[in-house]
Amino acid sequence: MLKIENLHASVEDKNILKGINLEVKPGEVHAIMGPNGSGKSTLSSVIAGKEEYEVSEGSIIFDGEDIEELAAEERAHKGIFLSFQYPVEIPGVSVTNFVKTAINETRKAQGLEDMPAKDMLKLIREKSDLLEIDRKFLSRSLNEGFSGGEKKRNEIFQMAMLDPKLAILDETDSGLDIDALRIVANGVNKLKSKDNAVIVITHYQRLLDYIVPDYVHVLHNGRIVKSGTKELALELEAKGYDWIKEEVGA
Ligand code: ADP
Ligand code: MG
Ligand code: MG
Repeated sequence: MLKIENLHASVEDKNILKGINLEVKPGEVHAIMGPNGSGKSTLSSVIAGKEEYEVSEGSIIFDGEDIEELAAEERAHKGIFLSFQYPVEIPGVSVTNFVKTAINETRKAQGLEDMPAKDMLKLIREKSDLLEIDRKFLSRSLNEGFSGGEKKRNEIFQMAMLDPKLAILDETDSGLDIDALRIVANGVNKLKSKDNAVIVITHYQRLLDYIVPDYVHVLHNGRIVKSGTKELALELEAKGYDWIKEEVGA
């Protein structure tokens, strides 16, 4: 589904990613961990196509297509979802209306008509029931006065509705409390299937107590310096990152 080869990327002329290789297959959950400033958010932004990031070398292949020339919006339409893509408050636009617009824009990009209102309603019911989201929450203004947990609930609801092939969740927020973590984890666990894939980016091992990754990668100084299974995350929690830095001679 996703194949990243020798990816180098910079922002404001500063080299951040220095040769990333990563392959994600359908049905897999990958965790990317690493110390602050190692390039985790940069990697997610580059995959999603944020324009301030410059790819200088290497390639990102998604579903067999080199996506380098595609704008963020086009990548989203192809099924790449990045959390925190819409952190803005939009007074007067409800959680539901926002997601309806996103769905219909995606359909338009695919040459389809708007989703019939009846089908949309059915989908909203189905996904909000699955995620145990209160109907009242759906009519709230987007992000306006949302708590950390409510922001997460909104993101997971968007993800459920858009049903991306590849979801990238950048849990960059140090303020994530245990409730917010559970919302994210429950959502991911309920939404994952053999056809989609998830990349969870986190600084913290504890999220991986709830989302069990198939693979764990450690990013350090713009490179994946170690890959393993869930046990690697446990080892990191016990020993920190310094031993890896020593191991790779950084
Ligand atoms: P992480 O998510 O692992 O904490 P980031 O990808 O956010 O790391 O940042 C990696 C490095 O790139 C840091 O040194 C950071 O200061 C720098 N960086 C990231 N985004 C920008 C930007 N928009 N402008 C300048 N420097 C940036
Ligand atoms: Mg980050
Ligand atoms: Mg950043």
